[in-house]
Amino acid sequence: MRRRPLLRWVFLIATLTLAACARGPVDHQQTLLVFGTLLEIKAFTDKPDAFHRAVADLDQTFQRMHRVWHAWKGEGELVRLNRAFAAGETLQISTELAELLRQSQHYAELSDGLFNPAIGHLVGLWGFHSDEPPGGPPPDRESIQGLVDAAPSMADIQFNANRLSSANPSVAIDLGAFAKGYALNLAIRRLSDFGLAHAIVNAGGDLCVSGSHGDRPWRIGIRHPQGDGVIAAIDVADGECVLTSGNYERYREYDGIRYAHILDPRNGYPVEHVASATVISHDGALADAAATALSVAGPSRWREIAARMGLSQVMLVDEQGKVYLTPVMQQRIEFQRTLPEMIIGVPGSDGSM
Ligand code: AMP
Ligand code: MG
Repeated sequence: MRRRPLLRWVFLIATLTLAACARGPVDHQQTLLVFGTLLEIKAFTDKPDAFHRAVADLDQTFQRMHRVWHAWKGEGELVRLNRAFAAGETLQISTELAELLRQSQHYAELSDGLFNPAIGHLVGLWGFHSDEPPGGPPPDRESIQGLVDAAPSMADIQFNANRLSSANPSVAIDLGAFAKGYALNLAIRRLSDFGLAHAIVNAGGDLCVSGSHGDRPWRIGIRHPQGDGVIAAIDVADGECVLTSGNYERYREYDGIRYAHILDPRNGYPVEHVASATVISHDGALADAAATALSVAGPSRWREIAARMGLSQVMLVDEQGKVYLTPVMQQRIEFQRTLPEMIIGVPGSDGSM
């Protein structure tokens, strides 16, 4: 008789525990404002506390990186480094920034200089070192040509451990084409450190994932470069990142002409022929650098640059909506609308297309 209440408690606790287990993992989601963009972090987990701690940690990390890596605002490390380069001086920088710059130097070389984060002065000249979209006429030809002739290149940077100098004073680093991919890699790693192995981190359509969404893969949409909506859907596997560069993202408009924020370092002018370039890779930083490089490469050189950068999953959309893609990309992508034309190309450099 006396054991009954105790039994009842044991039964109740066991039931509650089972109920908690049966609930299992669910979606937890939070959005941060970092790098001037909204970063959506989602984890499929039964550890809400770990999720909230991880998000707070990432928020702090990203706010700090934003200050340190900013190309033109404040007194961060990158602003000081660019000043040192201009003055022909040497500057000791953090290991983290040095690592970021070493990686971007490597990708700049792989891309044959089409991804070139040393063209900060050119980006500034076109008015993209501003929170507001630039207005007015484009810069004059002479100023553009002057910066092109100065030929700033990542190869000009000399590393002596973390002490950096540039042989060319026109080098000014702008990490706008690269930092997001690097940060997405970091976010996925950090979530995993907090025991969150099933996550998606999405900054305006650029994303990396880990694990899966329960018994299904994470599924995402790739934004159509012209107008609203989605051009394609895709299942993203554990560890993959999907990065897109688009000339629709930021531009300068004057006299009915749009000047994109992605510049061709060879002539100093915004790219015209490509509306967007999408890359899937296990490395978000590589994918970010490559998406920018492929936007510059355009329909005539995209296969060559994809091969040089070791990519097998690439898609370009041109100004007419024509789609160029690799066979691996074609196999997995699900287009959500009829395309005017689809051209499949294997990465390589035989010069055609
Ligand atoms: P993304 O959206 O990743 O293609 O990055 C574009 C941003 O990178 C621009 O807003 C510029 O700050 C910078 N940028 C523009 N053209 C280039 C280029 N050819 N290589 C490297 N960075 C660039
Ligand atoms: Mg990029």
